[in-house]
Amino acid sequence: MSAFSLAGKRVWIAGDRGMVGSALTRRLENENCTLVSAPRARLDLRRQADTEAWMMAERPQVVFLAAALVGGIHANDTQPGPFLYDNLAIATNVIEAARLAGVEKLMFLGSSCIYPRITPQPISEAALLTGPLEPTNAWYAVAKIAGIKLCQAYRRQYACDFISVMPTNLYGPGDNFDLSQGHVVPALIRKAHEAQRSKAPTLEIWGSGTPRREFLYVDDAADACVFLMQNYTGEDFINVGTGEDLTIRELAEQVCRTVGFEGQLTFDRSKPDGMLEKRLDVSRLNGLGWRYRVDLAEGLKRTYAWYCQNFADASADPARRRTMQ
Ligand code: GDP
Repeated sequence: MSAFSLAGKRVWIAGDRGMVGSALTRRLENENCTLVSAPRARLDLRRQADTEAWMMAERPQVVFLAAALVGGIHANDTQPGPFLYDNLAIATNVIEAARLAGVEKLMFLGSSCIYPRITPQPISEAALLTGPLEPTNAWYAVAKIAGIKLCQAYRRQYACDFISVMPTNLYGPGDNFDLSQGHVVPALIRKAHEAQRSKAPTLEIWGSGTPRREFLYVDDAADACVFLMQNYTGEDFINVGTGEDLTIRELAEQVCRTVGFEGQLTFDRSKPDGMLEKRLDVSRLNGLGWRYRVDLAEGLKRTYAWYCQNFADASADPARRRTMQ
């Protein structure tokens, strides 16, 4: 019997159309709860009055706050305005509306980019605000840190049961395969697929290939979120990851094996490396009783299969092609 039951509750996944929100939707189908949904066309979470009105009308009892403007290193670096404003607005509006509507429990999803650029590895939760942020994602990180702090402040002042989790780099079905907006896993899958199809001799990797990253399959991340919603409460936020990392070069090699591309890797050093290493200390999460299941090889296989089904053969279909430009 878990400490907090979702059974019979009205649950809102803010951001349910996104990669993480979709995985949470799949996962919550097993939990005997009622999902409420706010179609994006009807509710802009950057509008405070609209967000509050929607929440007061729909009265969710549980909220997973997975809505965010997300993107890879290039998108973060070149669009600082929306990465800061949209994410601050979404976090503050949803958290405040949840307080006003008397939501029983809320989970705010942050990101491992909240941590200082240079910090001991693996990164424990205690590293927050102990040093300067990585400049390529500082805008997004500041918004996520504000969200954590708002949950903590509302716990203290209003006794709201609002918790936060910090997932590592996530990937999987529903990811953004746009090369300028997306993260490294979908970008490399798409590039390797296209290189293999066109029999290109090389595949270009951004940066030096030496940065280290940790990757968690999105359905595992959703499972961890549901587990923590049910079994954890407290002011401290919790890292969510595998605790294992690899270099971007090693990742690229693994993607090439998955896709069947046999050419050479080249490195575009004019592109940023970002954080040199970013591996989470997941001992708190493991101590609570959760561990990941889908390893990188299996996760890449499933993600590539999803890409092939949804995009790779879409070149003849302009409507589909538009969504990935
Ligand atoms: P980050 O974890 O916030 O830095 O976000 P990304 O997933 O966008 O990038 C991770 C690392 O992969 C960085 O060092 C990038 O330079 C590197 N990388 C290599 N090739 C690519 C690519 O094609 N797209 C992206 N987004 N990153 C790449």
